[in-house]
Amino acid sequence: MKLYRRYINAKDQPKKKAEPIPDKHGSYGALLFDRRWKDKRSLILTRDNNKCVICGFDEGLQVHHRQYLYVKALKKFKSPWEYSNKTLITLCSSCHQRGHSKFKVPIIYI
Ligand SMILES: [Zn+2]
Ligand SMILES: [Zn+2]
Repeated sequence: MKLYRRYINAKDQPKKKAEPIPDKHGSYGALLFDRRWKDKRSLILTRDNNKCVICGFDEGLQVHHRQYLYVKALKKFKSPWEYSNKTLITLCSSCHQRGHSKFKVPIIYI
């Protein structure tokens, strides 16, 4: 039994140690409905004139985190609204998706 388990584990284990990534903003889940995020989000949208900063499209806008901050002492990521405004930008959903498929959001461990 032990051997069997070990075999399964070894096989299932990813080669690289999995990083604690909020891979999509969606994984913040319920946090995005938080009042504090709504306020932060509308602040960023207003600053960016309610337009995608890449293509200027003005519908279906999303606020993108250009980096994620992982607080080592707390062993968790900062909440979405705890980021400084300069790390947040307004994107339309297609620029947002394209960005995420091209680039990996850097994780900064603090
Ligand atoms: Zn766009
Ligand atoms: Zn994003």
